[in-house]
Amino acid sequence: MVFSLTGSLKIGCPGLSDNAEFIFPMNPQERQELKGKIEEEIAAQRTLIASLQETSKPVSPDNAIGRLSRMEALSDRAVSEASLNVAQTKLSRLETALDKVDQPDFGLCQNCGYPIPHGRILLVPEATRCVPCAEKG
Ligand SMILES: [Zn+2]
Repeated sequence: MVFSLTGSLKIGCPGLSDNAEFIFPMNPQERQELKGKIEEEIAAQRTLIASLQETSKPVSPDNAIGRLSRMEALSDRAVSEASLNVAQTKLSRLETALDKVDQPDFGLCQNCGYPIPHGRILLVPEATRCVPCAEKG
């Protein structure tokens, strides 16, 4: 699939409803807005990761503070570790998105090549596929 990268092109992914339309490429203002959004998300993930790393530290045998038993501490730790993995994956995707945001093909679905709707990019800046393709797995 080849797109003209000059001027605005209105196209709709065939997998989406008829009234869905997007303008591609993004205008500089939208790109700037998106960049700011990605930077914010990265900062938020870093804060989250720092606090999760704190709670996913090894549980010492005598770590029974108040009513919190060792079993509870261990299960809290497992939850924190799982969240930590999710947050780290999200962070690395966001960093990739930030690297690519200035490239002309940023925002194109990696699967079908159609533009990912701007609303989706704003909501999920690390998305590399459009909704229909993402749902196909
Ligand atoms: Zn797609």
